[in-house]
Amino acid sequence: MKRENILIILSFVVLAFFLARMFNSGDITSGPQRSQELIYSDFKALVAAGDVVNAQIVGDSLIEGFTQGGLGYRTYIPAEDPSVIDFLRLYQIPINYVPEKSLPWYLSILINWGPFILIFGIWMVLMRRMQGGGAGGGLFSIGRSRAKKMEPDEMKVTFDDVAGIEEAKDDLRETVEFLKDPAKFRKLGGRIPKGMLMSGSPGTGKTLLAKAVAGEAEVPFFSMSGSDFVEMFVGVGASRVRDMFEQGRQNAPCIIFIDEIDAVGGSRGSGMGGGNDEREQTLNQLLVEMDGFDGMEGIIVIAATNRPDVLDPALLRPGRFDRQVTIPLPDVKGREEILKIHAKKVQMADGVDMSIIARGTPGFSGADLKNLINEAALGGARNNKTELNLADFEWARDKVMMGTERRSMVMSEKEKRNTAYHEAGHALVSALLPKSDPIHKVTIVPRGRALGMTAYLPEKDNHSYDLEFLSNRITIAMGGRAAEEIIFDEVTTGASNDIQQATDTIRNMICRWGMNKSFGPIVFGSDNQQYVLGRNIGKDREYSEKTASEIDKEMRKTIKFHDEKAKKLLRDNIDVLHKIVEVLMKEETVEGSYIMDLLGQNKSKVEPVGG
Ligand code: ADP
Ligand code: ZN
Repeated sequence: MKRENILIILSFVVLAFFLARMFNSGDITSGPQRSQELIYSDFKALVAAGDVVNAQIVGDSLIEGFTQGGLGYRTYIPAEDPSVIDFLRLYQIPINYVPEKSLPWYLSILINWGPFILIFGIWMVLMRRMQGGGAGGGLFSIGRSRAKKMEPDEMKVTFDDVAGIEEAKDDLRETVEFLKDPAKFRKLGGRIPKGMLMSGSPGTGKTLLAKAVAGEAEVPFFSMSGSDFVEMFVGVGASRVRDMFEQGRQNAPCIIFIDEIDAVGGSRGSGMGGGNDEREQTLNQLLVEMDGFDGMEGIIVIAATNRPDVLDPALLRPGRFDRQVTIPLPDVKGREEILKIHAKKVQMADGVDMSIIARGTPGFSGADLKNLINEAALGGARNNKTELNLADFEWARDKVMMGTERRSMVMSEKEKRNTAYHEAGHALVSALLPKSDPIHKVTIVPRGRALGMTAYLPEKDNHSYDLEFLSNRITIAMGGRAAEEIIFDEVTTGASNDIQQATDTIRNMICRWGMNKSFGPIVFGSDNQQYVLGRNIGKDREYSEKTASEIDKEMRKTIKFHDEKAKKLLRDNIDVLHKIVEVLMKEETVEGSYIMDLLGQNKSKVEPVGG
């Protein structure tokens, strides 16, 4: 690599030199640059006029004449008139002879040999790249692996930088031990899995964890993305795979990390039109390489994907990626820890309770949380703060979750009032229902595409829901629209999201969760999604038209039931609804605790429903 760079730099120097020479041609080889060039006869006329007081012959073709005032003129001596010297003598002009100015040796070498050095340099660079590419990638650097290598001392990531995925960390401790001292394991005869598949949503820390393993074991870390393998030319991907493993072998013990392995490892033959030769070759090469080392050399291949379901089963066979580590989204506790890790890098006010932020960020990945802290810092800096407090983090949370506040967006008074009733409707219904998440706050500051929002603070993350909770969720979703309808007797498009959410929930309750009395525990439609070229083209439908229409009917009935329930709750508490809206119109934001205070003892008891 080093020598390659020198050659490239050298080539550029030579090239620059030639360009410079082209633009000021003559200046380097000829004499004083201050002399003015004349045509031969004019020069002679000048001499004849007696203006030239001395002359200088440079080499064998250039002659310069200087006037009394020191002005210089020059011309070239034509081969057919060598008598010019006699001519000068005739006018009794003293002549000085200087040999042609020679260049320093290195410049003349450059000029004489420059083009060859240039061509040779380029040729060397090409050759070196091509060799790396092996048989498949004979075109420039295209067949070389683009794996990024990180040396142990550049890697400061350790397990301490990874939070919220303790099980996965524990799974990997053994791997760290192995990488630290492969020889020890070899002696003991223990078998260590050489390939590991990490699956989890984007931003959950798969890359981070793989780096942490390398960091803990203090071994080099090679990383490459599956999509880097897939190129236009057949054979290139395979050649890159070969090259990457070659690098790995030379640097063992080490970690080879392949991100987005689904880009190469998607099941074969699932593509349309006879499959994709290039991808298939790449995948085959990957399988060959995985089989080609025994794992005792100290190479661990870690692959990451968020689509483990589309991977070719061949990849998961024993001896390949046979160890699977699932990286889930962090739970409340994990989110708090991740927030703390990233908050260390910013200046925080005393006593900021990150658990509040953690509770308000269900579904956030580690990367989202990192982004949240970053946004808080940016926002704080914009407001010239010296330390960040809870409000800054909450503001950032809302921004990450809902998009940027659009305070400048002009909402008409009517639109604002509509939005206020809509959001207050959600919030009030939620506050009135038992077993629903506490309200954090309600706001009508537009954000992203939403005109307002109601944020909740779940006590814990829910992984399974009971009927009551789901039914409440549908009622709350209907609450926004219901409030608009009660007050204005018309609805706006603002409720389309709510309707979507309610519909999805109901469909799942009937078709997947077996929660509907008249249908019972049957799954309608299967989870077998069909993929064409990695795209989802739909689900299998495995039930009759009649069933489909019954499902539709049941869904309509359920929606109607919840819509009416929401309206009843709101009508019974219409004063509170008006009160919330009044504050919203004035202050744009209402705290959840304020709503609970308004309700006071009125919190009506509502019996669970069986939709
Ligand atoms: P993935 O590879 O799963 O898409 P990354 O590892 O690239 O996710 O995560 C992006 C960034 O988000 C990381 O560099 C890290 O700063 C942050 N992050 C993600 N998960 C965690 C975690 N569990 N703990 C701490 N930071 C995390
Ligand atoms: Zn809504």
